[in-house]
Amino acid sequence: MTGLSDSFQRPIDYLRISVTDRCNLRCIYCMPAEGINLLPHEDVLSYEEIHRIAVTAAELGIKKVRITGGEPLVRIGLSSLIRMLAQIEAIDDIALTTNGTLLAQYADELKAAGLRRVNISLDTLKPDKFKLITRGGDFYHVLEGINAAGAAGLNPIKINVVVMAGSNDDELLDFARKTIEEGWHVRFIEQMPFNREFADSSFVPVNEMQERLAALGELEPSTVKGNGPAKYYRLPRAKGTIGFITPVSQHFCFRCNRLRLTADGKLRPCLLSEREVDLRHPLRQGISAEELKKLIKRAVDSKPRQHKLAQGCVPQDRPFSQVGG
Ligand code: SAM
Ligand code: SF4
Repeated sequence: MTGLSDSFQRPIDYLRISVTDRCNLRCIYCMPAEGINLLPHEDVLSYEEIHRIAVTAAELGIKKVRITGGEPLVRIGLSSLIRMLAQIEAIDDIALTTNGTLLAQYADELKAAGLRRVNISLDTLKPDKFKLITRGGDFYHVLEGINAAGAAGLNPIKINVVVMAGSNDDELLDFARKTIEEGWHVRFIEQMPFNREFADSSFVPVNEMQERLAALGELEPSTVKGNGPAKYYRLPRAKGTIGFITPVSQHFCFRCNRLRLTADGKLRPCLLSEREVDLRHPLRQGISAEELKKLIKRAVDSKPRQHKLAQGCVPQDRPFSQVGG
């Protein structure tokens, strides 16, 4: 087999890059109200360092990149990183996951720099509730961001919704109607238990979501461009799709194709395992391209067969927002 594959013969061609652990929101399922202990600035990889890792990873077989965070758009000059990544010939897809609050400002320049697509996290269609879930965010900024991304041609735009009982599960049908009325691509995500107490009381499994959505008609299997684990469906007459992401109730580790680079330069083979390979120190000590390749391969080789969420194992070493979701 050409390209990268791990010890379980899974092809690895997708790199998720967290460019910052900073965020302008405090979503209840992701961060504590007081925020997290932030990485010192000098520990965060420069764009040049990220670019060097991406070039080497692309030589090994990485073809797709997603920029995430924290909130990636709070980092100054993100478009310049996109431009650098877009020049790597072997990388044919560059996407961004964002909370959308700053997207109206940057959508055009991101598109011009070479960004293809965006996923926007939006857990409610109600401004007051949005303020509660994000602890202070402005719903209308996200709406402006969605519209700006559409106008800039960052398609398909996918809306990520983490479903929480007693909080936004009453809006499942409203989000689903958006796929009919506005052609949105909505993805319902099972909550992962990073905030254990909250997740235990508010978890909604995907099969329950699907039962409730049946009120709007039969879900026909569908597809939409992407590299992730979502399974897509379409309601009768809908232009948009409904995706389901089931990290908890039906893990998708057997087809996992990704590596993650943390903002401080650790290559993490699995979101839900504490294993990581440090690239920052070797990079700053002048490592050769060949040695860097070996470290990337070491991370790939150490990719676990599957996560252990079902056994209650959640990584404790880093907040989720540092690994990049
Ligand atoms: N700030 C950006 C955003 O919110 O889109 C990017 C980083 S965020 C960590 C990436 C994704 O992880 C978001 O779609 C968010 O909803 C999701 N996420 C965060 N915590 C989660 C949890 N406990 N369970 C499931 N998804 C979660
Ligand atoms: Fe910030 Fe994204 Fe986490 Fe919300 S989900 S707190 S926007 S990093």
